[in-house]
Amino acid sequence: MLLLTIESSCDETSAAVVRDGRQVLSNVIASQVDVHALYGGVVPELASRKHLEAVTVVIDDALRQAGVGLEAIEGMAVTRGPGLIGALLVGLSVAKAMAVALEIPLVGVHHMEGHILAPLLENDIAFPYLALAVSGGHTHLYRVDGIGRYRTLGRTLDDAAGEAFDKVSKLLGLGYPGGAVIDRLAAEGNPRAFDFPRPLLKKPNYDFSFSGIKTALLYYVQGQNGPIEGTHLCDVAASFQQAVIEVLCEKTLRAARDTGLNRIVVAGGVACNKGLRRLMGERAALDGFQVFFPSPSLCADNAAMLGVAGDAYLAGGCAADQDLNAKASWPLDQAGWAQQP
Ligand code: ATP
Ligand code: MG
Ligand code: FE
Repeated sequence: MLLLTIESSCDETSAAVVRDGRQVLSNVIASQVDVHALYGGVVPELASRKHLEAVTVVIDDALRQAGVGLEAIEGMAVTRGPGLIGALLVGLSVAKAMAVALEIPLVGVHHMEGHILAPLLENDIAFPYLALAVSGGHTHLYRVDGIGRYRTLGRTLDDAAGEAFDKVSKLLGLGYPGGAVIDRLAAEGNPRAFDFPRPLLKKPNYDFSFSGIKTALLYYVQGQNGPIEGTHLCDVAASFQQAVIEVLCEKTLRAARDTGLNRIVVAGGVACNKGLRRLMGERAALDGFQVFFPSPSLCADNAAMLGVAGDAYLAGGCAADQDLNAKASWPLDQAGWAQQP
């Protein structure tokens, strides 16, 4: 099927055209990051308004770049949740209206389902696999038995990894969002310069905790006489990043060993992190596991990633009706085939 997909769960407005759940014909992303950076984080009301301004433009661009007209679109997939309710409703309302007007089926997709299936747009990966979802709101390990069949194995008990990057970036005066900046500085620093904690590393489960690393860094910053700059700043960034990615890798590989899942997908915005990509690749290779990272444009929030599940659901006769509602909070284990409406 030829699907038009729409994502508006947080601060990116995105539309994509995806064929048969695998081939991305276009994937247009309008980021609101500059608007929210002024406030040091996402302002929900502003996000909704910016989605409203951007959504039709982004859809037009996606169709133009794909070289297809609206009449060729056979179905719609849209992020139903989790996310900011006002933001979600913009994408959902547009998708519903278009589905009615074009007389085509519509399906709601879970945002994290989008993230963890995104690598299928670039690689054939056999199910089952282990997925580490690392983003602004999630740090979860999922068992993926197929499209629509997910089980949470572990999760963060406090901050998400991306949230930790963003908070630490603010602490260091590096602005919002912080992941990419810290990643860049870390490449120039010594990851062994400071020994930040590795929370829950020894606990025999697959849960994470990142607020302790952030607090340790806060105390370190407060203990300094002046601003942290230059090489010192790079060393702090590198040491913080190392603490986070070591825990991510260690817990993920432990889960892979225990479950026998030897294919690992790492997805979500933090999967852009160069240090994480390198360390996970190296460590997984020691165990003979295969690791898949989506390309950066498919790691961050984007609509193309919704095409994988959207196509499978619609092809399987699982469509939503006009009662479809947005869900601000929605555990992935409760999503899947039986989710509609
Ligand atoms: P969720 O997917 O949980 O709903 P979200 O959609 O806001 O949250 P994403 O857009 O998937 O999250 O990812 C954004 C997060 O990724 C931010 O916290 C950002 O700092 C982080 N991030 C982006 N690039 C990098 C990087 N290179 N290194 C580390 N973190 C990064
Ligand atoms: Mg975002
Ligand atoms: Fe996301």
